[in-house]
Amino acid sequence: MQNYVDEVLDSLKQKNSNEKEFIQAVSEVLDTIKPFIEKNPSLKKEALLERMVEPERIITFRVPWIDDNNNVRVNRGYRVQFNGAIGPYKGGLRFHPSVNQSIMKFLAFEQTFKNALTGLPIGGGKGGSDFDPKGKSDREIMHFCQSFMNELYRHIGHNIDVPAGDIGVGAREIGYLFGQYRKIKNQYEAGVLTGKGLEYGGSLARKEATGFGLIYFMREMLKANNLDFKGKTVTISGSGNVAIYAAQKAAEYGAKVVAMSDSNGCIYDERGVDLDEIKRLKEVERLRIKEYIKKFPCAVYIENQKDATPAVYKIKADIVLPCATQNDINLETAKILVNNGVIAIGEGANMPTTIDAITYLIENNVLLAPAKAANAGGVATSALEMSQNSMRYFWTFEEVDKKLDTIMTNIFNTCKETAKEYNLGINYVAGANIAAFKKVSSAVIAQGII
Ligand code: NDP
Repeated sequence: MQNYVDEVLDSLKQKNSNEKEFIQAVSEVLDTIKPFIEKNPSLKKEALLERMVEPERIITFRVPWIDDNNNVRVNRGYRVQFNGAIGPYKGGLRFHPSVNQSIMKFLAFEQTFKNALTGLPIGGGKGGSDFDPKGKSDREIMHFCQSFMNELYRHIGHNIDVPAGDIGVGAREIGYLFGQYRKIKNQYEAGVLTGKGLEYGGSLARKEATGFGLIYFMREMLKANNLDFKGKTVTISGSGNVAIYAAQKAAEYGAKVVAMSDSNGCIYDERGVDLDEIKRLKEVERLRIKEYIKKFPCAVYIENQKDATPAVYKIKADIVLPCATQNDINLETAKILVNNGVIAIGEGANMPTTIDAITYLIENNVLLAPAKAANAGGVATSALEMSQNSMRYFWTFEEVDKKLDTIMTNIFNTCKETAKEYNLGINYVAGANIAAFKKVSSAVIAQGII
């Protein structure tokens, strides 16, 4: 069986040799599910692994738009519909210049397992574009979103594929995308996108859900190891949607968030970061994080050095929350964190930790909350948004938040129980991967060779 996993990985590497993020995401999952594959030798005859690592469909398309200086610009759009065995494809859209097919496939692959862990009926997908929203006017953003939807609309629908936000796609972009879909289709299909504004079908607590959910998962993980947030120092990589609401909930639980970052550098505020100011800078003004020190001169701004560990990870903290992007924590950074006495790491971002860093952290008894389990609160609440749209009804903030808390607690218990069943100790990464793989693969098998 060891050979079966290696054969599939070798073939995957050959076929997708230029897709390093996708290969990394698949390698992490296949390596950790080996104990499950060992117990189920018939899976090889079913070519199950081969079926699980091949997306059902990849759509790429041209996105032409006109900038404010009347220049015609062209970007590339993507939608990867990875696995629809347990429900309509579901996953966010990312607008960032780094977007390419490898990143889209890794995110869609991860999403398939994350969605399975929520216990809700949603398959896995992801999409986006190499469009860079930074520095663009509202009008340019709107034109880009409209052009993107002019093609994407053919491939989505509330029973087909339901996109949401991700890096660079927030409430403003979802609004423009939804408007264009409605215009083209001439129908009000609220459940076709999630992360919508509250005025037109959005769910209360969706904005907070990924960050809050991460902290609910971490609360359970700490509790299972006789720890809690009270009095702990926290540093957070990123200052976007996930980072902001993770910071808010961690502070509510008595932790002190001392640093947050963006892709240029981080601010360190020993008294605890002022979240109202971060929200103003990032959610309202869309400014760089270094502006923080203008209002709080007692804080410091530390610029990142090229090709070195991001500054935020050099600050000593009990709990570290990577909430920015993939491969933020490599082995070198992991060593710095362990040296600084980190107790727990909560992956708000998708695949923020490289495989060798994960191994090192777990070997050094750091509690690691794995992305596909710990950041599932966003998609889970998106599924709750779809339920509310179907019912033509809405739940209060407290009702949605309570359901989110229950879902995250259940996900942690699933990871813990699965790790225990396979004698994996605190390896919740493997626990999450095995539990999710079991669920999706049995649905795939039940539905025959399609
Ligand atoms: P936002 O666009 O709101 O914020 C992204 C943050 O990450 C910004 O602070 C940004 O800084 C930083 N960042 C982005 N790219 C890089 C990079 N290459 N290097 C360093 N910093 C970077 O995105 P979200 O908060 O929504 O998403 C953050 C992470 O969480 C992503 O990995 C996403 O896939 C994941 N996630 C998001 C969910 C959601 O519901 N939004 C759900 C589950 C996972 P800058 O402004 O300088 O670019």
